[in-house]
Amino acid sequence: CGIVGYIGKNNAVPVLIEGLKKLEYRGYDSAGVSVFDGKELLITKCKGRLANLEEKVKNEPISGTLGIGHTRWATHGEPSDLNSHPHTNKDMTISVVHNGIIENYIKIKEWLISLGYEFETETDTEVVPHLIDYYYDGDLVSAVMKTLDKIEGSYALGVICSKEPDKMVAVRKDSPLIVGLGKGENFIASDIPAILSYTRDVYLLDNSEIAILTKEDVKIVTREGLSVNKEIFHVTWDA
Ligand code: GLU
Repeated sequence: CGIVGYIGKNNAVPVLIEGLKKLEYRGYDSAGVSVFDGKELLITKCKGRLANLEEKVKNEPISGTLGIGHTRWATHGEPSDLNSHPHTNKDMTISVVHNGIIENYIKIKEWLISLGYEFETETDTEVVPHLIDYYYDGDLVSAVMKTLDKIEGSYALGVICSKEPDKMVAVRKDSPLIVGLGKGENFIASDIPAILSYTRDVYLLDNSEIAILTKEDVKIVTREGLSVNKEIFHVTWDA
């Protein structure tokens, strides 16, 4: 299970896939990526090795300068193409990758279904894009924050939205996530080796810190929206 995210000027897809390869040691049963191609969010995902995902992307190329990638270690819902991440909302304006477990997902799922939301997968994760959709009123960061008020459990989350394609939102609680600081490009990842060929400057996110990335800038805020003065950690070792 691993997460990689990219926002910058290059095609995100090879960055995501190469990064996920560096996280293979964490174990996984499926993999996927979502990119914003300038118009809409596209998702390619499948059960099995990263080689399967690479093959799929080779046969039907996708590209975009904003993207998130995931390797899944299934906890809720069998390993399958459908249950693979990223997950999305009905009109596919929000893509989410998640490592961890949303403990109270059944209650949330029942509530969302009562509001008319439809679920496609057996995962705990799928409540997250639907919750963000429910709370979204033009501000992705605040929709994510309201979603965090609802969900319990452990999570590292990467979120992108086609209505705000100049940013990525990431957060962690009891599941690892770091931010990589590049020049004109920024990254998220479960672990440093995934991004070490691009940058050695990282933020080690603490529990419940929210990272808001653009290609030029990274802001870290608390759950209350207060900005955090984060120290840059410089990586001196090689992977
Ligand atoms: N609980 C989620 C799922 O089963 C995420 C698993 C993971 O950490 O990869 O889809």
